[in-house]
Amino acid sequence: MKLTQYFGKVLTDTVNLNASRLEDLDTRVARITEALKAAGALDGRVLDTVPQGSWAHETIIRPAAGLEFDADFLVQLSEDEAWNENPRSYANAVYSALSDHAIYGGMSSKKDRCVRVTYANDCHIDIITYVVMANGRQVIVNRNTNQFEDTNPVGFSEWFQEKDRLTNRNLRKVIRLLKYLRDHQGAFKLKSVLLTTMVGNIVDGWRDLDGDYYEDVPTTLLHLVEDLDRWLQAQRAKPHLADPSCPTTSFNHRWTDSQFAAFRDSIHRLAPKIREAFDASTVDDSIAAWRRVFGPVFPESVVTAAPVSASAAVKSSTGRRAPKERFIEEMFPVQLTDTVSVRCDVSPPRELNRVQRRALRAGAGLVPKQRDLHFAVEGTSVKGPYDVYWKVRNSGLEAERKQFLRGEITRDAGQRRKKESTLYAGNHYVECYVVKNGICVARSRQPVVII
Ligand SMILES: [Mg+2]
Repeated sequence: MKLTQYFGKVLTDTVNLNASRLEDLDTRVARITEALKAAGALDGRVLDTVPQGSWAHETIIRPAAGLEFDADFLVQLSEDEAWNENPRSYANAVYSALSDHAIYGGMSSKKDRCVRVTYANDCHIDIITYVVMANGRQVIVNRNTNQFEDTNPVGFSEWFQEKDRLTNRNLRKVIRLLKYLRDHQGAFKLKSVLLTTMVGNIVDGWRDLDGDYYEDVPTTLLHLVEDLDRWLQAQRAKPHLADPSCPTTSFNHRWTDSQFAAFRDSIHRLAPKIREAFDASTVDDSIAAWRRVFGPVFPESVVTAAPVSASAAVKSSTGRRAPKERFIEEMFPVQLTDTVSVRCDVSPPRELNRVQRRALRAGAGLVPKQRDLHFAVEGTSVKGPYDVYWKVRNSGLEAERKQFLRGEITRDAGQRRKKESTLYAGNHYVECYVVKNGICVARSRQPVVII
């Protein structure tokens, strides 16, 4: 059985990183960024910081007690022709900035591709030097080889977001569960970037044409692990694994042939266990089988939630109604006979770099905090006169804690525009409705993921 609620409980109680630790991480990254910007060694070269890896993809999991979790971010430096001759110069300047710092000096250590700042027993933050060159090439610096390595961090995040969207946002959760099985159950060994890439590659849009192949966490877990197992079994040797956002970069050096073979065999053992738990015909049998996969953290029961009222059951992306939230269905009859498109511009370029601006325009909806967003009705098939309504719905723990979930629906005064500032990390959305003769005839939703 699927036991979807049980999976919700495992994720919340055991697997997900606590909200307070994520907030601490935000604060720490902001302070490190300030220190880098102020450092003489970098002399005003810091252009921006870009989250990446599990932090950007929301796949960080809670570490075992006393162990640290890992978060990565890129610090983008302006290009310097002289430094290009000796790529290490960029990385050394970042290291000097931190190692000379009163606070970070004692916490910083050098790695090949980053400087690691360690907060003992809690987390370490890897700061990777990143340069976007005048010719558009994006690189990080390998200090050890003194060479640039091609990368495309925003592209990787876009790729991941797209795969996540194809799975109805279940991919992130499945990757967290797999990391839990790796770190706490010894189910397999594999670097996170390889796991994320292979599982993401397995996601296929055509499989979900009926909308149920990736419909919830347990179904997505079953299908991704079985499909991964089938793919791995078809590989005679370690497969070529390209960086999905940067085809010239391969991940082949990140693992050995024997690591590949061990991973393939581990997944071949795991897949039937998940199938057995999923197919078990009684709740008790299914719980017992899921506990053989996840161990005793898989709950033996869940408290059933109170029934939701009919109106609150109106489908929202968060599944729960915010205190002031309204739904268009409660205000007008909805008969979607027309279309409306909404454009989102980021302006003026409050430190937003070229790559991020391009990513936003491409509809990735991935926006760093503290930018201004301008939404505008770009076009609609509705013939005037009509009214436009806007709804901004925030989600995420930060917005929830600050009681800023919003969700009210407001009428546009005629400018067909809405300005928003990005304040809280989370998956938010802006919705636009066109109402003609008292009927909502078109709607459009723009996701806004603030990182
Ligand atoms: Mg790291």
